[in-house]
Amino acid sequence: MLFAHDNMPGAHLAAALVNAAASGIARPAMEELLGEHGIRRPQLTGDQAELLGDWSTRLRTVFAAEDQDARTVAVNALLTVGTTGVYLTTHDGRRPHLHFTPEDDDIVGRVRAVTAGGLAIFTVESEGERLGTCARTGCRAVFVDTSRNGRRRYCSARCGNYDAVHRHRSRV
Ligand SMILES: [Zn+2]
Ligand SMILES: [Zn+2]
Repeated sequence: MLFAHDNMPGAHLAAALVNAAASGIARPAMEELLGEHGIRRPQLTGDQAELLGDWSTRLRTVFAAEDQDARTVAVNALLTVGTTGVYLTTHDGRRPHLHFTPEDDDIVGRVRAVTAGGLAIFTVESEGERLGTCARTGCRAVFVDTSRNGRRRYCSARCGNYDAVHRHRSRV
């Protein structure tokens, strides 16, 4: 179960933040999104919401990277800015997992750390693959590919269907 959802919370949160920012998410919805991804104390001030919007622009670089080397560089840039140290924790009765900033860090620091660290772990496990941007022209969404074959190209079935129909029509 290498690519099970609950093993990779940081990578999935990173994709969700990029996609939320692209669609202009409001602050309450962003707080809800953070809570859904297991972020504790997800309340945001307006400034903090803006900082996370800026951070999502940086997160996008990892999904948009052209190859493994570029992805490695992009993840390292996030780790440099977004993490302060690494340690194991078992808080709230959870299995041992890594944290990349102290637990009392503010919401911006904790989200930066869990997304940077999560993308780093994911990139190791996926050998630099399985992160991408939607192949449909005009769609700005990114995705984490948890499919069996790892050949996902679209953010959603909707975008994949749209492109399939479009290609079919252009042949007729
Ligand atoms: Zn934790
Ligand atoms: Zn799409």
